[in-house]
Amino acid sequence: MKVPFLDLKVQYAALKNEISVALQQVLDKTAFAGGYFVEKFETEFAAFCTCKYAAGVGSGTDALWLALLALGVEPGDEVITVPNTFIATAEAISFCGAKPVFVDIDENTYNMDAAKLEQAITAKTKAIIPVHLYGQMADMDSIMTIAQKHNVIVIEDASQAHGAEYKGKPAGSIGDAGCFSFYPGKNLGAYGEAGAVVTNNADTAGKIKMIRDHGQSKKYHHAMIGWNARMDGLQGAVLSVKLQHLPAWSRARRENAQVYNELLEGVNGIVIPQEADYAKHVYHIYPILIRQRDRLIEYLAQKEISCGIHYPIPVHLTEAYKALGYKKGDFPVTEKCADQLVSLPMFPELSKEQIIYVNQEIKNFLQQA
Ligand SMILES: *Cc1c(COP(=O)(O)O)cnc(C)c1O
Repeated sequence: MKVPFLDLKVQYAALKNEISVALQQVLDKTAFAGGYFVEKFETEFAAFCTCKYAAGVGSGTDALWLALLALGVEPGDEVITVPNTFIATAEAISFCGAKPVFVDIDENTYNMDAAKLEQAITAKTKAIIPVHLYGQMADMDSIMTIAQKHNVIVIEDASQAHGAEYKGKPAGSIGDAGCFSFYPGKNLGAYGEAGAVVTNNADTAGKIKMIRDHGQSKKYHHAMIGWNARMDGLQGAVLSVKLQHLPAWSRARRENAQVYNELLEGVNGIVIPQEADYAKHVYHIYPILIRQRDRLIEYLAQKEISCGIHYPIPVHLTEAYKALGYKKGDFPVTEKCADQLVSLPMFPELSKEQIIYVNQEIKNFLQQA
């Protein structure tokens, strides 16, 4: 049985008519760069996140960068995040001229270890970016308490956590701003590149909307130096269609995770993902920890099961961030995850038979290992 890591075609097949109608509307209105369909999606997505404002931008990376800029992060500032993330989180900090400072992750949630956060704060710390990795939110109460105590802003990287919750509050709604990626493979994915920032602060939302459009307050009135980071209309229309299906897709991901959990729970040599008491996990990724990770991936590939690794090289050990001076051993939990986590196939349309097959082959591997 073939089990892809992710199958965007099966989802598109189910949406084909709705998507065609939506795309045709954009073509008829020729509202290609920003405009009506982006604004419509912004209203819908802000409501989904229980936030007052949303600003559609070109990508998740843009969302992080523009949120940092709008909240005043400047050269010389330090911004704290985790090394167990996609590199974009750190890049956005660097593109403000600020310096990324890393803290290790928690062994159970794979998210920022709030107990290690305070010791990383210095007089230069301007912001904290907790990353809600794999679909589960970081420990936001602890992080917000520390941030408020030190007068530091919080920007949530919710690129993998559309619809995830912390004590009933949706991802993106707790910090000063929440950043989302709509890269095609994300839980809410565009048909191209897109991202958004949500916030309850009118000033922050207004600044982001200016920066994404060359600092314009109105056409050709450039109040500040900005950039072109607009979302395009076709993506706005696709995202409006797909947002309506997101709650059902999240439910399906959670059901799939439950099936994996029941089959893999207590299996010697495997650690399954833990859902924290505070969390509603939306399983963008279903990672298991296993010592023989690389050999398992090879074995499963022979059985036509595709897996992923998120992420094989932690940001502090990348070539790109050599100059920060971190070394192997600085973040042991992150480094263990980089060596031992494997992401099993996970998407809403994954069938129970496929999950059972993946589970069976993992057990066959363990038996012969
Ligand atoms: C995908 C992702 C990003 C970047 O989003 P793009 O839309 O690809 O620019 C940032 N942070 C995290 C955690 C991500 O998973």
